[in-house]
Parts: sequence; structure tokens; C-alpha cells
Amino acid sequence: MQHISTGDLFRDAMKQQTPLGVEAKRFVDAGQLVPDSVTVGMVREALARLSPSGEFILDGFPRTVAQATALESLLSEIGRPLGRAVFIEVPREELLGRLTGRRVCTGCGAVYHLQSKPSKVAGVCDLCGGTVVQRKDDSQAVIGTRLTAYDQSTAPLKDHYAKQGLLKVVDGLGEASDVFARMQTCLLESR
Ligand SMILES: [Zn+2]
Repeated sequence: MQHISTGDLFRDAMKQQTPLGVEAKRFVDAGQLVPDSVTVGMVREALARLSPSGEFILDGFPRTVAQATALESLLSEIGRPLGRAVFIEVPREELLGRLTGRRVCTGCGAVYHLQSKPSKVAGVCDLCGGTVVQRKDDSQAVIGTRLTAYDQSTAPLKDHYAKQGLLKVVDGLGEASDVFARMQTCLLESR
């Protein structure tokens, strides 16, 4: 499957200074939420680059019911309806542990975790030798805000997709390889 990650789209567009990237950066630099018009525009461009035959997976998008509605019109424009929506279910307490323990390499973007996947030398990336740090938005202070935003804006997507008969729930507990195997089963089984 072709992987469309809105996080990657934003990083690339800002780096390459595309018109949407420049616009997104204005909001990010001001500490404001990037408006849906920009995010949806980036997804529209990514969908246009897809090979017409292959399947694709959207990662990190949509995050709100408004974005989901915009996505539905984008997909109907290109005649490729959504196959399913996957909800990875993780208890809140486990989620907090994962977020506060997460560390990322400033050099190559590799992801570590203090408990479950520490780098061999603390603060140093195994892959590139870069510095491994905590992302600003993984700090305890910001996580509360992120979870509130999730409850208010993103959680309603579950109902939105359940009503359409598209929702699949995957157990997100356990090793990454276990969750990956469950995701594979979920994506491969016929609806
Ligand atoms: Zn690295």
C-alpha cells in the first residue's frame, strides 16, 4: 500500500517551500493550528500523485469530522471510495506512558522509548549518532492539551465511521510487531 502520512507531507512541503508548505509554516511558527484548507490541500496533492491502481493508507488524517467530510468529497472526485477506517485502541494510562517516554532523533527522526526501546547510549541515536530528545509536544504539559483536543475533535470520528459501516477496531496493546500483525489481518480481510 502507498503510505500517505500528513506529518511527512507537512515536513516535506515546508522543507521544499511549496505554496502550501509556506502557508503551513506561517501557522506553525505562530504556534497556531494549521487550518483544514491547508491540510486538505496537501492530501489532495498527495492523492493526485498516487498510482491509479494501487491501494493507499492515510496516516494521521482525518483528525476531525470536518476533515473526514472533506476527504469524502476528495475521494469521490477521484472515484476511489474509502475501504475502511481503523481505530487502534489503547487505554489512556498506557497512552500516557508511551507519550512521556517517547524520544526522537533530531538527526534522522528515528523513534525511541525510555522503557520499551531505549537507544544503546542514552541521548545518542543508534543509527546516525545524532542527539535523541523529547519532542516539545510530548512533554507532560502539552500532552494534557493534546488528549483534550483528541477527545473533543478526533474521538467523534469513531461514530462517524461506525455509522458508515467502515470502522474496524484493532487492539493496540503489546509489542509493535503484534500490533502490526493485527493491522495486517484487519487490512487484508475482506469487508
Ligand atoms: Zn538518528
